[in-house]
Amino acid sequence: SNQQKTEANILLLGAENVGKSALTVRFLTRRFIGEYGDIESIYSHSDKIDGREISFNIWDSLYPQDSETAESVTEKQLHWSDGVILVYSICDRSSFEVVRQQVQLIRQSKKGSGGAPIIIVGNKRDLQHQRAVSGEEGRLLAMSTDCSFFETSAAENYHGVLLVFHELLELIRDARALK
Ligand code: GDP
Ligand code: MG
Repeated sequence: SNQQKTEANILLLGAENVGKSALTVRFLTRRFIGEYGDIESIYSHSDKIDGREISFNIWDSLYPQDSETAESVTEKQLHWSDGVILVYSICDRSSFEVVRQQVQLIRQSKKGSGGAPIIIVGNKRDLQHQRAVSGEEGRLLAMSTDCSFFETSAAENYHGVLLVFHELLELIRDARALK
């Protein structure tokens, strides 16, 4: 039937300090605060996209301190989510490697959201002078893993952040319409 789940669950993953919380707060409040602490939260919200109301939950996750690799992507997280935003910092090469591992793990996952829409986000685009990952590398990783790709600045560009979340919500909606 066409009886569809009306809520979309969005999971943010990525290394520590890449701006997962900054992107979430920016999207939800339009504000950039600067300090977010090590808090893991699930936010509920609704929005209108193309004139259609959509309700969603955003899980702003914490990268575990004791885990050096992407094994931190748990089956629980994947089972919960309808779409994933994988965040790295363009200034932090190791955070890009975390995303590379996490995207493979998700795509290989049999259960949950192995085929779910994923957006890879290179954040902190405003810090060009500290860039350690080129846009081309990000784009190539996204292409080879069937993900969308954006570079953002949670600090300086609200519109770019909005585009990421709206794109994911649209992809989730499209994926459901095909079922
Ligand atoms: P998380 O650990 O991934 O949730 O990262 P946070 O959202 O807590 O951000 C970590 C630090 O990076 C904070 O000091 C933020 O103010 C800063 N930050 C986040 N996004 C940006 C950005 O786009 N540009 C700059 N310059 N700093 C950012
Ligand atoms: Mg955080």
